Amino acid sequence: MIVVMAEKASEEEIEAVQRIVDEAGFRTHRSADRSGTALGVLGEGGKEGVAALVIGMPGVARIMPVDVPYILASTEGRHEPTTVEIRGVPVGAGHFAVIAGPCSVEDETQILETARGVKAAGAKLLRGGAFKPRSSPYSFQGLGKEGLRLLARAREETGLGIVTEVMDPRDVERVGGVADALQIGARNMQNFPLLREVGRAGLPVVLKRGPSATYAEWLMAAEYVLSEGNPDVILCERGIRTFETHTRHTMDIAAIPALHELSHLPVIADPSHGTGRWRMVAPLARAAVAAGADGLLIEVHPRPREAWSDASQTLSLEHFAALMASLEGLRPVARTGP
Ligand code: PEP
Ligand code: MN
Repeated sequence: MIVVMAEKASEEEIEAVQRIVDEAGFRTHRSADRSGTALGVLGEGGKEGVAALVIGMPGVARIMPVDVPYILASTEGRHEPTTVEIRGVPVGAGHFAVIAGPCSVEDETQILETARGVKAAGAKLLRGGAFKPRSSPYSFQGLGKEGLRLLARAREETGLGIVTEVMDPRDVERVGGVADALQIGARNMQNFPLLREVGRAGLPVVLKRGPSATYAEWLMAAEYVLSEGNPDVILCERGIRTFETHTRHTMDIAAIPALHELSHLPVIADPSHGTGRWRMVAPLARAAVAAGADGLLIEVHPRPREAWSDASQTLSLEHFAALMASLEGLRPVARTGP
């Protein structure tokens, strides 16, 4: 349920409504846009009684029942698209940004060469895993703390903001001490304690879609972060598990317009994990942009065949620059209406 306040409602009137809702055992989440203030009523069951109490109060314009369980992520709760800023780089609501870099941080030369190269090609943000979620416990698990130090070094030199994954709630403070945005990997999309922890970290979150997650499950995962008071969530489509084995995953391009319909949050696309094949990254990146993606996440390495992880889906700096150039003409024609 959402309590929509009249455009001219006073602060006292808004607070009075919040008090009534709190006293009835629910929580309110306050948001404002050009049309005024809205109070999302959060909590389970029995909201009809609260609606009856609130409806006649001064400053209340109307009550909206909400059908979806992700009230804060939903376009029903907020109509205007949200812009999330990562170290001053806006993503969403017409702002487009590319996050590029290696799957894993390997050493100083590799991350600095990549950072310089992707910046020259027009990327605004650098990615690189220091803590890696690997399917096998025997695969390279990332450089950990040293990887974070190298990312910070790359930012110092290039000014690029850093997007890196956090896997464990106990590491959120450490990773958040360096990152400009925290990535939640596909495998952790429903790690609820981790979602709550990043919700309290005060940094933007790039939330990857779980390989088997429905749109509703993905948005409820976003809701965990939002309900902790963190409004800065970017949704990232990275392919889902289907019967097809030629590609690593099946890139769900339909997720982009679907999520724009269901949610005000920015939606970006990761065709690297979405296909698992470097030759398919550029065509699927362009498809995502044409479908209205607010940004891209692309794996890039100066010597892709030598990459310690995800080599087969990683672009060289040359191929990445060519992809970026090909987006120039495409962006203006994307999202020009139904
Ligand atoms: C990654 O970004 O390197 C990664 C592991 O992605 P995902 O969680 O989508 O598999
Ligand atoms: Mn990867």
